[in-house]
Amino acid sequence: MARNPAVRTTCVGAGALSLAALLAVVPGSGAVSADQPGAAEPVAARAAQTAGGKPRPDARHVVIAVHGGAGTALKREDTTPAQEKAYRDGLTEALRAGQKVLRKGGSSVAAVEAAVRRLEDNPLFNAGKGAVFNEDAGHELDASVMRGSDLAAGAVAGVRNVRNPVSAARLVMEKTKHVLLAGEGADDFAARNGLPTVTQDYYWTEKRWQELMKAKGRLKGSGETLTQGTVGAVAVDGKRDLAAATSTGGLTNKMAGRVGDSPVVGAGTYAKNGTVAASATGAGEVFLRGAATGTISNLIEFGGRDLAGAAYEVLVKRLPHLGGTGGVIALNAQGVFDAPHSSEGMLHGYLTEDGRVVTKVFADETPANE
Ligand code: ASP
Repeated sequence: MARNPAVRTTCVGAGALSLAALLAVVPGSGAVSADQPGAAEPVAARAAQTAGGKPRPDARHVVIAVHGGAGTALKREDTTPAQEKAYRDGLTEALRAGQKVLRKGGSSVAAVEAAVRRLEDNPLFNAGKGAVFNEDAGHELDASVMRGSDLAAGAVAGVRNVRNPVSAARLVMEKTKHVLLAGEGADDFAARNGLPTVTQDYYWTEKRWQELMKAKGRLKGSGETLTQGTVGAVAVDGKRDLAAATSTGGLTNKMAGRVGDSPVVGAGTYAKNGTVAASATGAGEVFLRGAATGTISNLIEFGGRDLAGAAYEVLVKRLPHLGGTGGVIALNAQGVFDAPHSSEGMLHGYLTEDGRVVTKVFADETPANE
């Protein structure tokens, strides 16, 4: 069930959809109301989300979901139709890239890699091409991937020359006996294995530069950083195997050498077939200290919680007490999906078994859970 009645449902590639799927996106069909910008009812939506005190999942029959970061949700009053379209298209293209892999019988690992690569190549998102600047006006990127069938995982941290860090993370998982490679060693490993390399200026974008300038002006001497997003994907494949991946440029104005939660298994990324595939975004230090995604899995496995209950408990009840906000996309092998967050909004989208795409880019489409 969509959390918010004003969900803008994007129907792309309708030729591939069944009649039921088409009906599901026709306004007035009663299934999903579409295209009602400004008609959001956050309070009602929040109440529905936790009706009877029990969190409910956002959607069912989901095969792949992506996020484009917490703290980057758009405000209607500041967003042009072209900007809105660009973000929705970015999320949709990533979902379609993952769907293409799954349709051909590919693994959930390949699907989340494909989806995250699209987001990394899109300058709108804080990963790959659109990575934010650190305090030295450089870029250091983190990424990870995890396979739910056997808990295999791979990650890279602080890379400076890999075009697609998520692919480097997958190579670490599949070609080494290690889980996490950092810095120069990780860059060299990726290059040796044939991944495209770039120089630091590849990641330069005017928008990120202005954000750094703003952070330095506003935060002079405070040592503070700004949360700027992250991308991630979760998927389930035909064998019902789960996978999750996360990739980020981190926080604007972060210290050189700082590593966040995104490349850390159990913090920013986790996947275990019997419990959940989860990718997080938000204040990385808090997600590390709260062992965010691993705790969601443990609450399901050892605490008897369902997916929505466990994700809500961690994101809304526990992490804010540690002093930071953020969100997570969470999917289980039965296709139950939820995206709870304590941040004002979280850019995300999902694709269901019947090929339907839902994207949420405005803060009022994804009101913070309470
Ligand atoms: N979690 C990321 C980090 O701390 C940033 C974000 O998601 O906004 O590096």
